[in-house]
Amino acid sequence: MKMHFLEGGRLRMRRSIYIPGAPKEEAIELPVHATLMRHPRGNVLFDSGCNPEAAIDPDARWGGLSKVMTPIFSPEQTVVHQLKTLAIDPEDIDVVICSHLHPDHCGCNTYFRRATILCHEAETQAATANGAENLGYLRGEWDQPQGFQTFNAEYDVFGDGRIVLLPMPGHTPGMTVARVDFEKDGSFILASDAAPLQDNIDTGIAPKNTWNIELAAEALARLKALQERGATIISGHDDTQWQGLRKGVEFYE
Ligand SMILES: [Zn+2]
Repeated sequence: MKMHFLEGGRLRMRRSIYIPGAPKEEAIELPVHATLMRHPRGNVLFDSGCNPEAAIDPDARWGGLSKVMTPIFSPEQTVVHQLKTLAIDPEDIDVVICSHLHPDHCGCNTYFRRATILCHEAETQAATANGAENLGYLRGEWDQPQGFQTFNAEYDVFGDGRIVLLPMPGHTPGMTVARVDFEKDGSFILASDAAPLQDNIDTGIAPKNTWNIELAAEALARLKALQERGATIISGHDDTQWQGLRKGVEFYE
């Protein structure tokens, strides 16, 4: 199995959302990414990043949310374009795993018409609840014709222990991370917004844009324990870590 990290957009936000005490006017730039796993039984995407339309007309695509998380990427810096550099078409994707259903994580799901879309049951419920739009769940981003295949506990995608989904609620009700195990490069945890920055793992403090702060802190403690046991934790939006990762055609195996 090979794993490729792919660009999925880039956002500007207030730094104080992520770093307690940071001055209000300070901004932070956040990379957005997706992960492609080429498993012998199928091509799997963990998250699909931002929709290219968000780069062209942010307000039309995201409404008021585009003021809170401002797109600063080109349409080419999104998943379908990045897959092309690997000669992979959207029809070649068999499974899309949704860490959660915010627009910077599921914005390209709509392109993967043939794929099974996996998402935690609590997350699909949160996205369809009254007032979900105000919590950042935009139907135009997460809804797609084939619907979801849901799970509500640990879930082993192919039954061989290589890609295992671990629910870690906190950032959102159905937030889920993936443990991906390789013979050569070891164990990775694709943490998405359970740990947006490496700093969140170090301090144990969750960002402000969190659904349940206590559960989010528990998730961070769990991730720290996994890190201490040797796993590489891939944060959802850490620019320093992102710069150092193998990306695009380069891979982990
Ligand atoms: Zn995010």
